[in-house]
Amino acid sequence: MTSLWDLPDFDEHELVHFVTDRATGLRAVIGVHSTHLGPAGGGTRFWHYAKPEDAVADALRLSRGMSYKNAMAGLPMGGGKAVILADSDRTKTPEMLAAFGRAVDGLCGKYVTAEDVGMSVADMVAISQVTKFVAGLPVAEGAVGGDPGPHTSYGVFLGVKAAVKRALGKDSLTGLHIALQGAGSVASGVARRAAAEGARLSIADIDQAKAQALATEINGAVVSVDEIMTLEADVLSPNALGAILTEASIAALNVPVVAGGANNQLATPADGDRIHARGILYAPDYVINAGGIINVSTEYVGDGDQATVRERIEAIPGKLESIWQESATTGRNAAEVADAMAQRLIGRA
Ligand code: NAD
Repeated sequence: MTSLWDLPDFDEHELVHFVTDRATGLRAVIGVHSTHLGPAGGGTRFWHYAKPEDAVADALRLSRGMSYKNAMAGLPMGGGKAVILADSDRTKTPEMLAAFGRAVDGLCGKYVTAEDVGMSVADMVAISQVTKFVAGLPVAEGAVGGDPGPHTSYGVFLGVKAAVKRALGKDSLTGLHIALQGAGSVASGVARRAAAEGARLSIADIDQAKAQALATEINGAVVSVDEIMTLEADVLSPNALGAILTEASIAALNVPVVAGGANNQLATPADGDRIHARGILYAPDYVINAGGIINVSTEYVGDGDQATVRERIEAIPGKLESIWQESATTGRNAAEVADAMAQRLIGRA
């Protein structure tokens, strides 16, 4: 049997906490990858896994990702992530959330939770009844907190502009064609800002009605989910799923820039080399999409107001630029350069 230390996703995690609560049926894994820069921050995913091993792998992989993301965003937080193993009916009870909150509380602030897939603001409110180590809570108008989506969109928009400047030498998106994958929270914010600057957008979402509503609002066009990946455009902005950049999809890309907010866009590390070899400028996902966690961290740590959040998000283009610069001088792909920078920041060079 493989030990935890030998699992492919194990990366010297400081702590892996297995939680079982018989009374409520809760089973969860909390991964604390690094607390080098501060408490390990990262959301809780509520997901039905085919095998418990998949949940462990997810907690390990996602918590390391949060270490890198938080470090590159310059936040005083380490990286962590929790997964709750949902049953096939996705039964979630207040008692189960309370048991999970007590488990988070038991780590005495080493891990701070927030929303992720399958967990809502209301769930965070429930968890906050039993622990103070939680963020992503509703806040009063004008205060820092609430939905991270618009903050993520703002950072992605600025990242797209930085990529366009570097790859195409243009200061504005006016007249450029952006292929937008997804029409959800992050994508729609990017679309509105890009359209306001004069970009033309082609939009694809598996939910046709959502794509159509966004296209109508910003005078864009709807294309099919297959077409979006091969469309001839100035930018492909993936804002839906992970693992969309594969050997096959990279070979078929028809854009000079890939810059979007979706997490884990590269299917494998080798795909970072493939996109680089094609001469396509790639914005490492966890750097460009950090706007939301910047808002969450500022809420939790309480070290700034909305202007501070904005300022921190506006630092994203500079970080991308330094990655691309190093990539150009070393010949290493942008994703690899970003990982190496993050590892240096968390003391694991
Ligand atoms: P969302 O659920 O609001 O939107 C996702 C959209 O993608 C949905 O409209 C869905 O129908 C669509 N979609 C799913 N599969 C698709 C496919 N094959 N082709 C085209 N569209 C498809 O989610 P979101 O909050 O906008 O997040 C989008 C991405 O950004 C995710 O990868 C998420 O992990 C990442 N992200 C989000 C935030 C945030 O603050 N919300 C922060 C960082 C990263």
